[in-house]
Amino acid sequence: MAATDLERFSNADPEPRTLSLGGHVGFDSLPDQLVSKSVTQGFSFNILCVGETGIGKSTLMNTLFNTTFETEEASHHEECVHLRPQTYDLQESNVQLKLTIVDAVGFGDQINKDESYRPIVDYIDAQFENYLQEELKIRRSLFDYHDTRIHVCLYFITPTGHSLKSLDLVTMKKLDSKVNIIPIIAKADTISKSELHKFKIKIMGELVSNGVQIYQFPTDDEAVAEINAVMNAHLPFAVVGSTEEVKVGNKLVRARQYPWGVVQVENENHCDFVKLREMLIRVNMEDLREQTHSRHYELYRRCKLEEMGFQDSDGDSQPFSLQETYEAKRKEFLSELQRKEEEMRQMFVNKVKETELELKEKERELQEKFEHLKRIHQEEKRKVEEKRRELEEETSAFNCRKAAMEALQSQALHATSQQPLRKDKDKKKS
Ligand code: GDP
Repeated sequence: MAATDLERFSNADPEPRTLSLGGHVGFDSLPDQLVSKSVTQGFSFNILCVGETGIGKSTLMNTLFNTTFETEEASHHEECVHLRPQTYDLQESNVQLKLTIVDAVGFGDQINKDESYRPIVDYIDAQFENYLQEELKIRRSLFDYHDTRIHVCLYFITPTGHSLKSLDLVTMKKLDSKVNIIPIIAKADTISKSELHKFKIKIMGELVSNGVQIYQFPTDDEAVAEINAVMNAHLPFAVVGSTEEVKVGNKLVRARQYPWGVVQVENENHCDFVKLREMLIRVNMEDLREQTHSRHYELYRRCKLEEMGFQDSDGDSQPFSLQETYEAKRKEFLSELQRKEEEMRQMFVNKVKETELELKEKERELQEKFEHLKRIHQEEKRKVEEKRRELEEETSAFNCRKAAMEALQSQALHATSQQPLRKDKDKKKS
């Protein structure tokens, strides 16, 4: 296409004209078509549960979806936090829901909790990255792609009645730009009504003063603006979970039974469970999915693409060229690779030199040791030689003495044997 054509198209008047139709055309069925398509396609919804072990995460999930999810009981002795996703296919009327519940196993159980948030952040980013990779594929299949991006993080706060723990503030702060956070006070039946009221105010105050952005139920859609505005004022929801059924009057209700009475999960005078279910599932599930895509994923995608060297062209500058960006990135990557290679080669040479020097030093030490031992050995040998000579001299002197003694002894023996003979002769003579 010629440049002038391009200019003509880009300068075309963007103002559309309003026309009235002569009769029914049929595109008013578009919303129905959309509904029908979405229903056929099914929906996915992914919930991340963050909270200490035993705070009631699994119980609340079972209570929310009125079923029993298979969960392994987590121990309190996990060495680090790890994320355990479990996906379930649920159906209500003709709507299919692929629900993934991700549990941050071991959260808050370690002595050093400095890095507890990191596996959670990494998990959320990994799901964004998977989606981005699918989008960047030439043959992408987003239609049947299992979207695992986290749509909501239910952050379980311990019902201490005091203030938020620093772990809660740090974790929520790290997560708030990546996921829709709904804070909830767990096991709300363990805190009195007046304490709960003060606790809620304190939590909200702390979140605001620490700049933690929690999910706000949207008030821009007229149909739900009023209820959402009211519910925003009730945050954080104080919930009670239970899968146990207790007879109240002549009805079986989900509740927790105590010696002094019954806490009914779905009684709004007892806790905010109904409010949470209403807001999370019945009113704002689609908004949570949309916010995840248009806000959190968009931010991740933008940062990632900018990191990769992509940029949008503004009106005045040259249009953005994918080829040039690719070439520039490739060059950058190759020179970085070369630099790393050279660095590694230099490191290797240095290491070899170091090892050579060490070996030489060891050899010198060994040689010195050998020389020293050799000297000691020669000295010892000389001493032994001397001793041997001395001994030989002593032996020969001894032998001489022995021979002389023997000679003397034999002479004496001879003399004593001659004496009686002489005496006999002398007798005979006389
Ligand atoms: P998780 O480790 O966070 O998944 O905790 P669980 O859901 O396994 O619950 C741990 C214990 O807390 C169980 O004994 C539950 O019955 C109990 N529990 C759960 N929810 C509540 C609640 O709202 N109030 C009270 N008092 N106990 C609860």
